[in-house]
Amino acid sequence: MTQTIKLASGREMPLVGFGLWKVPKETAAETVYNAIKVGYRLFDGAYDYQNEKEAGEGIRRAIAEGLVKRDDIFITTKLWNNYHKEEYALEMGRRQNEIWGLGYIDLFLIHFPCALKYIKPAVREYPAWWMDDEHKVVELDKVPVQETWQALEKLVDQGVARSIGVSNFQAQLLYDLLSYARHPVSSLQIEHHPYLVQAGLVEMAQTNGIAVTAYSSFGPQSFLELPEDFSKRAKKIALLFEAEPIASLAKKYNKTPAQILLRWATQRNIAVIPKSNNAERLRQNLDLMGFDLASEELQQISDLDRGLRFNDPGFYLPDHPIHIFA
Ligand code: NAD
Repeated sequence: MTQTIKLASGREMPLVGFGLWKVPKETAAETVYNAIKVGYRLFDGAYDYQNEKEAGEGIRRAIAEGLVKRDDIFITTKLWNNYHKEEYALEMGRRQNEIWGLGYIDLFLIHFPCALKYIKPAVREYPAWWMDDEHKVVELDKVPVQETWQALEKLVDQGVARSIGVSNFQAQLLYDLLSYARHPVSSLQIEHHPYLVQAGLVEMAQTNGIAVTAYSSFGPQSFLELPEDFSKRAKKIALLFEAEPIASLAKKYNKTPAQILLRWATQRNIAVIPKSNNAERLRQNLDLMGFDLASEELQQISDLDRGLRFNDPGFYLPDHPIHIFA
């Protein structure tokens, strides 16, 4: 049975899902279809990942074959930074819904609290990167988060999205957002692993009814395969899979280090969305029940905290044009 978290919108979100970042477009439909067969019900996508169309195809195939019904599946997708203005956010929400092709989006998130200048579809249809070949400069736009949030609320009113939330936000902006939100802030998705625990932020979100989802649960692992500027921090630190007490806890519970890292989050009611293109790891990452870490073991893992953020555009973008997490 799929374990879920109840969102402030009243909907249920699976506690363990599958992350779609870096899943190649060419194999995404098959990977998603196989993930459903293994038991995954939550798929975490984004316009930025450029594989939503294929992910949607994989899900539709599973539905057509009677493996699942639409309501068994939960899809998350995200609004990219160039589309924060109301008209673009509305258009992007509708387009995301069409491209996934599943009737509605379960959870639509603002990807980063950072509005960048609109890039005309004439250049490339919807560029999703901080920069691309035609745009070498990251240019901020003057769009308050309130405008973007209210566009997401309209998407809920229109039935395009069922729940809405944010990603990469910190407490100050969340307090502000909570002061005007007409629809609840259902989820906060953040980088969360033992090297970046963000305990205060997690507590603030959870006590305000915002379900927390952890991304990059394996810390440096995901960033090693990226270009130099992105992977620099990851290369300087021990892999979490080999770090203590994770390695010994894995032995003690007869689990893999990956399962210990994921359980450390889910046991604190934080959803996880690990990504793997490998069938055995897919199975392993979903199999997190049947053991509980002791509270002092949870704490020992949290004690690895170094405030070390790997997904930090203020660090990896050339010439450091923006500092979202400063
Ligand atoms: P992750 O922590 O899931 O790590 C993925 C890496 O770990 C890959 O190299 C994979 O091969 C490896 N791996 C997976 N399972 C393993 C296992 N059982 N044993 C050993 N190695 C294993 O990293 P991620 O992809 O950065 O994060 C997960 C998801 O979070 C993404 O796919 C995406 O959906 C989401 N995300 C969101 C944001 C955001 O800004 N909101 C940013 C990054 C990621």
